[in-house]
Amino acid sequence: MKVFVLNCGSSSVKYQLFNMEDESVMAKGLVERIGSDDAILTHTPTGRSSVKQVSSILDHTTAIGQVLEMLVHPEHGVIRDISEIRAVGHRVLHGGPTFTQSVLINSEVKDAIRDCIPLGPLHNPANLMGILAAESNIPGVPQVAVFDTAFHQTMPKHAFLYPLPYVLYERHKVRRYGFHGTSHRYIARRAAEALNRPSKGLRLISCHLGNGASVAAIKDGKCIDTSMGLTPLEGLMMGTRSGDIDPAVVFYVMKHENLTIDEMDSLLNKHSGLLGVSGISGDMREIEAAVKSGDERAKVAFDIYEYRIRKYIGAYAVALDGVDAIVFTAGIGENSPFLRQRVCEGLGFLGVTIDPEKNNSRGKEVNITGEDSKVKVLVIPTNEELVIARDTLEIVSAANSGN
Ligand code: ADP
Repeated sequence: MKVFVLNCGSSSVKYQLFNMEDESVMAKGLVERIGSDDAILTHTPTGRSSVKQVSSILDHTTAIGQVLEMLVHPEHGVIRDISEIRAVGHRVLHGGPTFTQSVLINSEVKDAIRDCIPLGPLHNPANLMGILAAESNIPGVPQVAVFDTAFHQTMPKHAFLYPLPYVLYERHKVRRYGFHGTSHRYIARRAAEALNRPSKGLRLISCHLGNGASVAAIKDGKCIDTSMGLTPLEGLMMGTRSGDIDPAVVFYVMKHENLTIDEMDSLLNKHSGLLGVSGISGDMREIEAAVKSGDERAKVAFDIYEYRIRKYIGAYAVALDGVDAIVFTAGIGENSPFLRQRVCEGLGFLGVTIDPEKNNSRGKEVNITGEDSKVKVLVIPTNEELVIARDTLEIVSAANSGN
């Protein structure tokens, strides 16, 4: 079965076409600048060179229509006919408290995704647009929604509730939801496979360190706590997001800098983190280069970044009552031996050591555990699209067989 995976943003569509016979990727690509006359479609059929097409693409329906044309293109295509696509899987950011797992999309599901817009005001409208655009391009093909929040719905109440007036939880669903759930779920399964252990009894700390970053504490394959909260702003320091700060900083800065709510939101989400502290960039490659050339602000930005990861690992080792493995994933986790080394150096009290030679690797699955380490340390490239394709196949196959 061919499964089409979509990740729709407000002005972009990322896609991958999977052949689920062997879980291989047949083609992948990206449409950027949707809504403009010079939108760019970059399409890469596996094993062949990429093609770039610039044209006017004013909405998601046109964008997905052009991607489908590319998939059947005589020269750049990978399938003969659109009817070969038997299911579509969508990444959806916020499933609120409603969705604890992936679901087949119907009108009630679309309404529920719409109901979650206040919780995910930037992403959920775009995700919904993607669903409607896919429906209008390939009507009748079943679609599945895979939520970034779903994996974290197993958190106990004492981990997901904020110490605020309870009425805010009841009235406005204010609580910790967590994000990157699809990635943490992939890591939980893959780490158990790599360690050749059943999920039952395994205590994992999964560190997803990309532009956004989060940590999850996973016991018996289930999330028991995670660092992102009501929104992706909480938790670790990130590329441009602050992560945890004293909430009183918000009123203090708004008052003294005379900022509106939107300006303060932008300051915390887009101008803080590595970028805000270093004044150089939110991109870890540039921060590392600046640290190595002796830049003081880059150095302190890097120090805060790795210190906060260590604090979360310490806290989650307590939450899990011990830790069997720590996993690094996503852009920084997969590609930065420097960051992994610095984090692990500071975890001596947990009995963590790493093998410097094995750690000297980028973008590959590798066990970097030191010989005398009490805790396993793994690098696992994440694969959220594959999880979406697997869920889609499973749900659509079950629906087809009448389960
Ligand atoms: P997103 O959250 O947008 O999916 P990614 O998972 O692609 O982000 O991660 C992007 C981050 O990974 C950036 O900070 C980038 O600098 C970092 N990164 C990528 N390659 C390297 C590398 N070789 N060394 C250090 N950081 C890297």
